[in-house]
This record gives sequence, structure tokens and C-alpha cells, in this order.
Amino acid sequence: MGVNSNTPLYIDGEWHEIESNSEIPVLNPCSGERITSVPSATESDVDRATSVARSAQPEWEQRPAKERGDLLREIADVIEDNVDSVAETLVAEQGKTLSVAKYEITAAADIVRYMSEWDRRIEGDILPGSKQRQSITLLRKPYGVVGGIIPWNFPISVFVRKFAPALVAGNTAVIKPSELTPLSTLELVEIIDDNVDLPPGVLNVVTGGGAIGAALVENDDIDYVTMTGNVDTGKAIMRNAATDLTRVSLELGGKAPAIVCADADIETAVDHIVGSRTINAGQVCTSVERIYVHSDVREEFQSQFTAAMEAVEIGDPTTDPDMGPQVSADELEKTQAAINRAVEQGADVAVGGPTTENPPTSGGYWAKPTVLTGVDQDMDIVHKEVFGPVAPIVEVDSVDQSVAFANDSQYGLSSYVFTESYRDAMQIAEDLEFGETFINGSGGAQQGHHIGWNESGLGGEDGKYGVLKYTQIKSVYHNFD
Ligand code: NAD
Repeated sequence: MGVNSNTPLYIDGEWHEIESNSEIPVLNPCSGERITSVPSATESDVDRATSVARSAQPEWEQRPAKERGDLLREIADVIEDNVDSVAETLVAEQGKTLSVAKYEITAAADIVRYMSEWDRRIEGDILPGSKQRQSITLLRKPYGVVGGIIPWNFPISVFVRKFAPALVAGNTAVIKPSELTPLSTLELVEIIDDNVDLPPGVLNVVTGGGAIGAALVENDDIDYVTMTGNVDTGKAIMRNAATDLTRVSLELGGKAPAIVCADADIETAVDHIVGSRTINAGQVCTSVERIYVHSDVREEFQSQFTAAMEAVEIGDPTTDPDMGPQVSADELEKTQAAINRAVEQGADVAVGGPTTENPPTSGGYWAKPTVLTGVDQDMDIVHKEVFGPVAPIVEVDSVDQSVAFANDSQYGLSSYVFTESYRDAMQIAEDLEFGETFINGSGGAQQGHHIGWNESGLGGEDGKYGVLKYTQIKSVYHNFD
């Protein structure tokens, strides 16, 4: 780990010490042991970072768009060149398996490269005017300074998902990583700083917890807040941003349903749902959180699915098992509490359960892949996000019932449907009130759009709309009579 955690403030292209008494320990989720401590920024550090970003913004915006894109392409290259070292840090602080960490960082390079390609593609419109000899141009201008707030579950890919589209559109940025996982971000920024001639002040990073996130939202120099995290935090940010109408984009939690129809290819459904529920120990916003399976195939699905969940190998993430630990004691406790509550409400544990006998290491935050059966639609496990490897199965009698149950949720991020019928797939996809639906598969793409409906957020990321949201429209009326 190359990062000097004593100087975790990256402002104006330089590393700064923080004069703060508040140190945040970063723990290894496999052992609960402290890797290091990172001082938390203060409100005056946030002021410094945002004012530097404000000063750097006009020149950054004035640069030819291709030059902004070229710098982002250089960043994509250096991310790719440093996958192994950043992955090591990411595994140590977050607990994801080595191959998932490498995948996340490789995907981050892809995100930056994809967004860099918007450099010369952000277009306006030209319209006829309403007067004689008049035309109107609609220009897409950056907001100015973007404040980014990052969760711990994908610290690197969410970090680049914020700054790459913001920067290519001509904004500058101040980003706050999660207090649980700041090290991989700081390491990546150090690599970028060493290798890419990004103008000082264009990308800045401050460390700290929720209070520093709130200070960023409240800061007068922030024009646009882009945050990924849970629903309650998103609501707090929106309330806070309302004070001076700062724009917000919020990518929040999910409770993804998977609908397994009577004609589904069961093997495909099992494969994707197990993968989705156990990757990153189930700590993924798109992860399948509830399964609606048709009564005709419930037994067959349940027995294959339970066997596959039981076979998931848990272990030291550096050795690349199927699944590592949860990120923190808090997250593990929440997962255990959700299982206990489901059992209290009448669910059966088909495999797994709240306790992990013979954990791979002592002191770590080990959850067990768990399948709950006999689950009813009104149980809490069907409605509250469980950021852990727990899969409740609900039996349904019809496609209509499965869609109605799936839509009975405060969330609206990802959803899945498994069927061999084209007509059912299309009708279900159309009727699901979710921002994204995966038919017979899982996993999104940069050119798509990842967006939460309902309380899963507002804004959306990736693709055309993921970059255009960092622009605001300006109308210019040309009169030449
Ligand atoms: P969290 O909401 O606890 O924290 C997210 C970030 O917000 C952290 O950096 C935290 O310090 C900061 N924060 C906390 N309180 C704040 C406040 N009052 N003002 C400003 N910032 C504040 O979320 P988490 O536990 O880090 O992440 C897990 C959640 O993120 C899950 O709900 C998951 O579904 C969601 N998530 C969503 C997506 C998506 O694309 N929709 C992707 C990843 C994770």
C-alpha cells in the first residue's frame, strides 16, 4: 500500500496534511484488525478544496474538449497499468475477492475510457426562432463544481463513475470516499497524480465520514452533488441541498426481485441469481434480494438453488474463493438481524443461517450464504434491503402475481426475469416499475443506463444520460434582422 495516510487531502494537485484530531481507523474485514488510520478532513479543508475547484473550473471548461478527453484516456491507461496493486489494497480494506477487485478496477478503466469518448459528442441543438431572422441555440454547459460522495461497496468504480463524466463535461470535482474504504481511492489518486498531467484543482479528494459529506453538500462552491449510498442518507442530502437548491443526483439502495417463470431455464436462473446474491458477499445494489418462483417449478428451482448456495466457498479473499467477508461488524449484524427477523416471522432456513460455524478466520465478519423458504410477501425480508448473501424464496401462482409482488416495494433499481417466452419477458419487463430489467441474465454495460426509480434514487449513471446530467442547458437567441 503506497499511500501515506498522514497526508490524505488531495487539493490543487498536491497532498496535504490534515490538522485534525479525528482519526478514522480502516479495518481489515477478514480479521477486524486495523490496517491504518486516516485523519478526517475538517470543514475548512472542504472549503479549501471547493474553492480551489471553483478557481480551476473556468479554464478547464475552456480547454478544447478533446484535451479533456485525452487526459481522461491517460487516466484510463494508468488505471489499467495498476490493477494489481490497487486490487491488493481494495481487497484488504473492503474484503471483496481478488478477482472481483481486479474486475472492479478494470471496469473502472473502461468507465473512464467510455466517458472520455463523450469529449466531442456532447451536442446542443439549433432551432428556428419565433421572429423574423432569428435562430436559437441550446448549449450544454457544465454546472461548475461537482461534489461526489462514495459508498464502500465499490469504492473505485463508483469514484470514477462520478468524476469521469463530470470532468469530460467541463466540471471540476471534489470527491469524498467512504470512511470505511478510503485507501484504494487515495492510492489510485496518487497513481493518477504521478502519471497524468491533470491541471491542479480539477480533481480533489477529501476524507471523512457523514459530517464531511454533509459539509460538502452545504458548501456554497458546490453546484451539483452526486452521491451513491443508502436511501436515508440520500434523503438527508436532498433535504440539505434544498437550502440553496443545489442539484442532486442520488444512486440509492435496491431490493431487486428475480421472477422465475414456469418455463424458465432453471440452470440459467440459478447461476445468475447465486452469482448476483453472493458476489461481493451480497453487498451490491443490483443484487437479487427476493425470488418469485412459479409454483410449477418451485421445488426444482429451490433444490438446485439451495445446493448451489450451499456450495459457495467462503474464505480469505486474497486466495480468491467464491465469497469473502462482509465489510464491517455493523453490516454483518444487519444481515444476521434480517435472518433472525425472517425466522421470527415464520420463514425456514433451508441453508445457511445467522451464525457461521468454523469461520475462515477469527475476528472477521463472515456471513453465510442463506436461503429462506416459506417466505410470505408481507415479511420484512421481502421489503428491507439486506446487504448480505441472503435469498428469500416466495412461491407465486402466476406471472401477474409475481409482477404485482415485485412492484410492491419502496425501491425500484434492478429487476430480473427468467423465462423462455419472448412475450412474457417483454410484458414483464414493461410492467416492472424498476429502472433496469435483466432478461435471462445479469450485469450492465457502460453504454446502458443504471437508474433507480421510486426511492432507489434520481439521476442515473452510465451512458449518454449519465454524462448529459452533468450539463445544464443554456438558450441563446440570435437576432439578425
Ligand atoms: P451510506 O449512505 O451509509 O454512505 C454513503 C456515503 O455517504 C459515505 O461516503 C458516507 O460518509 C456519506 N454520508 C453519510 N451521511 C451523510 C450525510 N448526512 N451527508 C452527506 N454524506 C453522508 O451508504 P453505504 O453504506 O456506504 O453504501 C451502501 C448503500 O449504497 C446501499 O444501500 C447500496 O444499495 C447503495 N448503493 C447504490 C448504488 C447504486 O448505483 N444505486 C451503488 C452502490 C451502492
